Amino acid sequence: MSTTVTTPPPKKTNRIGLEVVSYKGGRTTLCPGCGHNSISERIIECFYEMGVPPWQVAKFSGIGCSSKSPAYFLNMAHGFNAVHGRAPAVATGAVLANRHLIGLTVSGDGDTASIGLGQFMHMLRRNVPQIYIIEDNGVYGLTKGQFSATADLGSTLKTGVVNDLPPIDCCIEAIQLGATLVARSFSGDKRQLQAILKAAIAHRGLAVVDVISPCVTFNDHEGSTKSYSYVKEHDQPLHELDLVPAYEEISVEIAEGQVREITLHDGSRLLLKKLAQDYDPSDKLNALRAILEAGQKGQVVTGMLYLDPARPHFIDLLNLVDEPLGTLPQSRVRPSPEVLDQLMEELR
Ligand code: SF4
Repeated sequence: MSTTVTTPPPKKTNRIGLEVVSYKGGRTTLCPGCGHNSISERIIECFYEMGVPPWQVAKFSGIGCSSKSPAYFLNMAHGFNAVHGRAPAVATGAVLANRHLIGLTVSGDGDTASIGLGQFMHMLRRNVPQIYIIEDNGVYGLTKGQFSATADLGSTLKTGVVNDLPPIDCCIEAIQLGATLVARSFSGDKRQLQAILKAAIAHRGLAVVDVISPCVTFNDHEGSTKSYSYVKEHDQPLHELDLVPAYEEISVEIAEGQVREITLHDGSRLLLKKLAQDYDPSDKLNALRAILEAGQKGQVVTGMLYLDPARPHFIDLLNLVDEPLGTLPQSRVRPSPEVLDQLMEELR
């Protein structure tokens, strides 16, 4: 009797030979249908498809449902779950200590726009090179759904309570204060969010990505402006986005006058296909106007809002050495007795 031995098909790997499982994390404990779970899935896909070594990534978060997310992706990455709103300071320290790390902070609207607002502002001014994702649902999901500082004026809670305070728009703050990639997306828009996250990975300054991520338990009802149905009906994409990674030598069909191409730091190319309006993401005033005008009409403008690949980031401004600071030998970090003597002389 003969037996047929079938060889299993080779496992699919990325350009550094890793399977997608190497980019996964623990099993989510968030509510089924929470927008944050979709964002975790996109993060896994993007880092896998870009072929980034997961151990080169350092994940940071604060407190809230969103801040639990880093446990659900990139198990092999470094990770630090900071106190409420303090992830920016921890991330700044980490990327300064080792500039070869890719910083990835996942925060929420409460964590960023309330208790962590001061930290957020100073991270923006410094253009700290990292990816900063805000999982924005307009409520504090972990403490039963009170309004956060990004809730829109006039939106309502499930209980009928009306928000009578104006929102803080994290993208406006990011553009004004110095982040060099600012984008807004929707957790339900897989294609757009993927392109934006890949561009953020290729960027070498601070990339702030505000993702409207509905809280299905406390803020997905009629009267909410951050529900799945509201965002689907009021989403105004600025353009269709695509990213061609530096290693991918493919030719792209570009219809003249309809696509704008921007080269990112690692050589990847961001393709912006214009929709209704002629949108230029390098124009700061244009970006602010687009957000404000959409807000006045009750719309949510999504896409690559602002991009400035030329502004130096914080580490370059500090003129730090290339090696991780923790591995520098004593001879490089400690002044010699002669140098100290000379310094003392100068101070006499
Ligand atoms: Fe997500 Fe809301 Fe559930 Fe928190 S409470 S996990 S934000 S759906």
